[in-house]
Amino acid sequence: MTDSTVSLNQLTAWLSTFENLVIEHRAYLTELDSAIGDADHGANMARGMTAVMEKIGATTAAGAVDELFKTVGMTLVTSVGGASGPLYGTFFLRFGMTAGAQSSLDGPALGAALRAGLDGVVARGKAELGDKTMFDAMSPAVDAFDVAIASGADVAAAASAALLAAQTGRDATEPLVARKGRASYLGERSAGHLDPGAASTVYLFEALASTLTAG
Ligand code: ADP
Ligand code: MG
Repeated sequence: MTDSTVSLNQLTAWLSTFENLVIEHRAYLTELDSAIGDADHGANMARGMTAVMEKIGATTAAGAVDELFKTVGMTLVTSVGGASGPLYGTFFLRFGMTAGAQSSLDGPALGAALRAGLDGVVARGKAELGDKTMFDAMSPAVDAFDVAIASGADVAAAASAALLAAQTGRDATEPLVARKGRASYLGERSAGHLDPGAASTVYLFEALASTLTAG
């Protein structure tokens, strides 16, 4: 595919769409977190992404992917009190460090940046598959993105495949007993509910797929 790259503007649009989705679904994310947590995931994500868009809107549009995502990550780490702030913050910090001082990313470069972000979440939170966390949606999504790119898909198709995998991963958290985070304090009582962070991770990939499909 010749035209399969993602520009800095598209990456900014990804973040803006993610902000819109977490604001739109804020009550739903909070409802999920009220079942197995402390009912703040919607507020945390909305506050964090609003702070991110205010911060990057105030800086000049010019620049490189690493600078943009350093700002994004630092803003999330510092503006969100909950576990999700440092976790998403680390995701975006590592994403940017691996993407480097580029003005656009091709499919393999975007895949490598997403993989580095995922590894950052693990470095920070030590989650494994089946622990009932955001990792359960993020890990299959990044895998699906890589598989699609390796088989010749363009970035939009790879992001759509990642979204489907994230949704499947989120849905698979419902019967699980949480082994990480606040929900793990509930033990067996955490079963029967979707993980809030896995649900917000679906919005991260929904935002990517819709931004890249829009071209
Ligand atoms: P808090 O739990 O501090 O209230 P949030 O409610 O914003 O923070 O976020 C909760 C989400 O964070 C969980 O649903 C889960 O997906 C994610 N999470 C918590 N701990 C971990 C961890 N160690 N690794 C990965 N994700 C985690
Ligand atoms: Mg919470």
